[in-house]
Amino acid sequence: MTTTQSEKDRVVIFDTTLRDGEQCPGATMTHEEKIEVAELLDTMGVDIIEAGFPIASDGDFAAVNEIAKRAKNAVICGLSRASFKDIDRCAEAIKPAARTQVTRARNHTDDVEWSAEDGTRTEHDFLCRCVEGAINAGATTINIPDTVGYTVPEEYFALFEMVRQRVPNADKAVFSVHCHNDLGMAVANSLAGVKAGARQIECTINGIGERAGNTALEEVVMAMRVRNDVLPFWTGIDATSLLRASKLVGAATSFPIQYNKAIVGRNAFAHESGIHQDGMLKNTQTYEIMTPESVGVKQTSLVMGKHSGRHAFVHKLEELGYHLQSNQLEDAFMRFKTLADRKKHVYDEDIEALVDEEIATAQDRIKLVSLSVIAGTRGPQRATMRLDVEGKQLIEECEGNGPVDAVFNCVKAMVPHEAVLELYQVHAVTEGTDAQAEVSVRLSENGRSVTSKGADPDTLVASAKAYLGALNKLIIKRNRGMGETLVVGERRIHSTDVG
Ligand SMILES: [Zn+2]
Repeated sequence: MTTTQSEKDRVVIFDTTLRDGEQCPGATMTHEEKIEVAELLDTMGVDIIEAGFPIASDGDFAAVNEIAKRAKNAVICGLSRASFKDIDRCAEAIKPAARTQVTRARNHTDDVEWSAEDGTRTEHDFLCRCVEGAINAGATTINIPDTVGYTVPEEYFALFEMVRQRVPNADKAVFSVHCHNDLGMAVANSLAGVKAGARQIECTINGIGERAGNTALEEVVMAMRVRNDVLPFWTGIDATSLLRASKLVGAATSFPIQYNKAIVGRNAFAHESGIHQDGMLKNTQTYEIMTPESVGVKQTSLVMGKHSGRHAFVHKLEELGYHLQSNQLEDAFMRFKTLADRKKHVYDEDIEALVDEEIATAQDRIKLVSLSVIAGTRGPQRATMRLDVEGKQLIEECEGNGPVDAVFNCVKAMVPHEAVLELYQVHAVTEGTDAQAEVSVRLSENGRSVTSKGADPDTLVASAKAYLGALNKLIIKRNRGMGETLVVGERRIHSTDVG
């Protein structure tokens, strides 16, 4: 970075991957996955981690609580709603209401953010009065979100300028942007807000979030870094952690990252065209506005084989950014040995798939013990499966219309459920015919949907793991409910009503 950094140009990164991101359909994370993601966010320099919605369920509360205990650098906050949902109807009522909520939040902490849901479509006089009231009542951060992803950069810029000019006590609070990507402009809008004086960006890893998602953390961070000439702002993010964070969140949510995704997509630094390749060979700066290394891309390296020992494995995990508990480490090492017996070359991606699965399945109530399948041209295909269901061993043999169907029928026979299979996808983790298969499965039940992944050199075993993973997540989600109103965070309260 430049030597001219000044505090007034410092942009606070408020990460809401674990709240807004996790709230999007199918992106449910387990307790362990949330802790893992939070630890990485904490070490990579995120300023504020919105860790969840404590009132939503005991599970959310426990996650926020645990993350708050572990955080070393970041401020941890939880979301709470204001009690008044219908802003239009309660127009006159909300000003004192907002004040009451902020005052109440201030009784718990001195760090309060107030947020105007659907701020970009709110009438200006009313918005200014609410902001003034919230600051008077003690709000230290004012968030004006584009909840429905409707605004454009010029408009969002003008809105922040207007509010900051008209609200008499505007200099007493930090202004924050929170943009949704329905028209693909979340990043551009967020940066426009910063140019107009906002100094906090609410964003998520990979831009996950409701509907078309949120502002992608990796994109705003790199935009300000690469184009610091026109966006002279800076953050505390260690950019070399961006790829690792992207992969971890991709694995935890089972949301695949599009190949052409800016900054972290598989093709983000691949130059296919002959002219470009030629230019790249002569001078990498010809077509490269940033280096792959600057966002944490490493050359895929041949890592290990079956002769690699525990020490090398632990070293590799550290290099990839994992910090496992000793029992998890033991399990992961055993799974690595099993994999290395079956697969000659074990790559970084294989290790990541293996460990991510280890973290994702640590709390599973249903586990795959063994599976054998008879497949081929002469049907019907048959599967024999043994499961561990909360410590009880069950076995079942089923036929199916194809081997995958036979495998899933075994699960249905042993764990009866109404969930519908919405998606079944197979990817190869690396290249080669001995590559591990990575299967993604999405199940939905009563409007709730969950996605899970399973990896194995055997596609059918990977399919069984993915299906069971989704079923386990669905069981966790069944126990969740939505509550009423509450204003309790851990070290910070985030009093908002953001969608
Ligand atoms: Zn949102």
